[in-house]
Amino acid sequence: MRTELTVGVDIGGTKTALVVADRRGRILDSKTLPTQTQAPYSDTVSRVCALVNQYIERYDGISGIGIGVPGPVDVARGIAIHAANLGWRDVPILEAITKGLARALPVYIDNDVNVGAIGERLFGAAKDQDNFVYLIIGTGVGGAVVFDKVLLRGASNSEMEIGHVSLDPVCGRVCTCGQRGCLEMSISGKGIIAHARQHLADYPQSRLSAGSLTTRNIINAAEANDALATHVMQEAARALGVACAWCINMFNPAQIILGGGLIHATWHLLEEPTLATARARCLPLNYAAATVSLSQLRDGALGASALVWHHQNEDKRP
Ligand SMILES: [Zn+2]
Repeated sequence: MRTELTVGVDIGGTKTALVVADRRGRILDSKTLPTQTQAPYSDTVSRVCALVNQYIERYDGISGIGIGVPGPVDVARGIAIHAANLGWRDVPILEAITKGLARALPVYIDNDVNVGAIGERLFGAAKDQDNFVYLIIGTGVGGAVVFDKVLLRGASNSEMEIGHVSLDPVCGRVCTCGQRGCLEMSISGKGIIAHARQHLADYPQSRLSAGSLTTRNIINAAEANDALATHVMQEAARALGVACAWCINMFNPAQIILGGGLIHATWHLLEEPTLATARARCLPLNYAAATVSLSQLRDGALGASALVWHHQNEDKRP
């Protein structure tokens, strides 16, 4: 029997990654190229289509293409609504890619966070899970929710912007969105840097006073018990614990999956205080039903390849 394959494409702010994968998430082929953010989007489309067409030629089992892009996506119309770091606004990406293919194939597009959640459900930490929350913690904070098997989308394709729910709207640090005290001003790359900068003068002995303020330096300092870095990490853990409690109380998930570079680099520091905070703020019935764990998929393009299976399963649903 011919192996069914899909192509996954993850278009990010710095790189675009492609994979050819099978239904079990095994990667047969992959390629990464730099994203040319200064070029018009049609250039990106041409380069992606050229590579996908090579795969279509090389593998005869390819049954669809899945594409992940940053920012909100109108999935039904196939439009990337606003991908700020690509300079895209209302880009009809689905139509453009479909037209550029050498052979007619179904193409599916979604935002990179939803793609991550779908990838975890098919191939990763949330395998076959019908109720889970996926939080991605990197430079900022995003999220996706699968509730009773359905991936939530919202009225304007912009659901689960939990990074901009405020923990302290009066005294919190000012966020890029204009509010104060947003979650991502405490638990994200930009948040921990802003927090460390705010208190540098209060901790003249901190090793962070000498070097440049980067997430890596803050993590290293926290691992060495630096007082300022420890304070920053404790607040990050508290904020994440509160966010987990919101999700656990609101959606009653069986799992919270945490993904993103920052959380993978700091979970050994954050896990215990995060879970203690979450437990203290959850209804016991909800907390008992939920586990909190790290994501398993490290490849956004593999998540994008899962989009095809996800949609084909959805189509079969009564
Ligand atoms: Zn904000």
